[in-house]
Amino acid sequence: TPDLLTVGEALVSLRSAGPLAAGGALTTHLAGAESNVAVGVARLGHRAAWVGRVSTDEFGEFTLRQLRAEGVGVDGVTRDPDRPTGLMFLEQRTADVTRVQYHRAGSAGSALRVDDLRAPLAAGARMLHLTGITPALSDTAREAIRWAAEAAVAAGIPVCLDVNHRVRLWSRDSAREVLAPLAGHASTVIASADELDLVGDPGADESAVVAELFRRGVDTVLVKLGSEGARAHTPAGVEHVGALAVTAVDTVGAGDAFTAGYLSGWFDGLDLTGRLRRAATLGAFAVSSRGDCEGLPRRAELSLLDGHEAGSVL
Ligand code: ATP
Repeated sequence: TPDLLTVGEALVSLRSAGPLAAGGALTTHLAGAESNVAVGVARLGHRAAWVGRVSTDEFGEFTLRQLRAEGVGVDGVTRDPDRPTGLMFLEQRTADVTRVQYHRAGSAGSALRVDDLRAPLAAGARMLHLTGITPALSDTAREAIRWAAEAAVAAGIPVCLDVNHRVRLWSRDSAREVLAPLAGHASTVIASADELDLVGDPGADESAVVAELFRRGVDTVLVKLGSEGARAHTPAGVEHVGALAVTAVDTVGAGDAFTAGYLSGWFDGLDLTGRLRRAATLGAFAVSSRGDCEGLPRRAELSLLDGHEAGSVL
């Protein structure tokens, strides 16, 4: 049984060091929020499994090869011979601006359906991690995620939900209609401050959303605050963790790294403070290295950023 089971769409990200319109070389990387989390958790020595639909072409092979190389279990993956892998183009447009373009409509990953998830869910896990991206991909993917959340709850597997609103996939209102009910199945909900009302009432403030989530059985709400760190709400109160003082070179994947660190701390049985510290540490690794998940630490590297805690004297 894996520690972490996660479901989603893995993308191939093609990165350009300069403007895409000017041409030039692209490098090939694995991307996708849930696979990033799986890689982060696996690098820290936990057993992680990723499931989803993967094309049968070269990009599908690349996806599986990368996940296997990271030690992520892919036994439950479904191969889809009829659809291509979703692509993402990342261009370093200026030193400060990275632009993202997606070619993911009609992808293999978006054709996820309930039947793809039955066996992996039956195999169990200590935690199921879902994101608000997958339900936006298609009607069958939305149904699959709803089914997975309900099946996990019925099997006693706690669910972690990262709201992860993708504005290019759906509107805030459409997202709220699906994600607010989904959050009721989660024990841990993770959101950026501006995403919180997507799991509550439109325009509701943080404390109102948190109170409503607690009422519905959620026990931990993590609010990511970028370079300000994060806030955790539990029925015992609110705890803040500062971001580590690092040089940010690429913020892509910071949120996924944060989630991987939090879950790793949870698998290790750390208290809330310890879980938050590990989450902030992984977020710092992500922003201070280029790539989607390449910079995430292995366990022996966790201490590399010791001494970079907010407020510490370097
Ligand atoms: P993304 O969608 O780009 O992955 P996000 O909005 O989900 O990001 P953020 O809040 O930006 O997530 O970042 C997650 C965590 O990463 C933060 O809580 C923080 O701990 C860490 N982090 C983010 N930005 C910085 C930074 N500039 N310096 C250090 N740590 C950072």
